[in-house]
Amino acid sequence: TAWLAGSGIELGAHGEVVADDGLRTSVPDVYAVGDCASFPSGRYGERLLVHHWDNALQGPRTVAANILGETPAFYDPVPYFWSEQFGRFVQYAGHHAAADTTLWRGDPSGPAWTVCWLKDDRLVALLAVGRPRDLAQGRRLIEAGTPMNAELLADPARPMKAATA
Ligand SMILES: Cc1cc2nc3c(=O)[nH]c(=O)nc-3n(C[C@H](O)[C@H](O)[C@H](O)COP(=O)(O)OP(=O)(O)OC[C@H]3O[C@@H](n4cnc5c(N)ncnc54)[C@H](O)[C@@H]3O)c2cc1C
Repeated sequence: TAWLAGSGIELGAHGEVVADDGLRTSVPDVYAVGDCASFPSGRYGERLLVHHWDNALQGPRTVAANILGETPAFYDPVPYFWSEQFGRFVQYAGHHAAADTTLWRGDPSGPAWTVCWLKDDRLVALLAVGRPRDLAQGRRLIEAGTPMNAELLADPARPMKAATA
């Protein structure tokens, strides 16, 4: 992005393009999406710079909608990534910088477990290793901002969607 210096497109502290909640840059009709762009997250109350495929995949929907200009579209995702590490399927959803509670579902020395982060009684992020169902349910719970019951959530035998307050 260094080549953008002096173009009128605002760059942020990490050299990224600073986009607004509709992924517009500081220059009219110029949009930024994916690894190169940070955006203000209403959900997490801070500017996010996400370096993952899903962000590059989902952001363009907002950009396309705003170029077409039908109704204003806002980009406020629950960030997500997956990876394979040492033969394990690892998935993360959310953003846990402001979390106040870390909670384990299962034994982290075993092959399959999940770690959840909560702020107050809301799930804000989770990392699932070999537990894709936890990820799918947890992502929806984060999106909906559903209040959780921490004691029920710590039971790995209980589906996450059945651990609400
Ligand atoms: C080693 C590695 C492993 C990763 N593993 C994962 C993973 O497991 N899971 C996950 O979710 N994400 C992973 N990522 C991140 C993921 O690849 C990126 O988030 C994603 O590719 C970003 O897409 P993008 O389109 O925003 O940027 P890019 O894919 O980087 O595309 C930008 C394109 O712009 C081109 N370009 C740059 N400058 C210019 C210029 N001046 N003029 C013209 N073209 C230009 C580049 O050549 C490039 O083709 C990984 C990344 C790396 C490097």
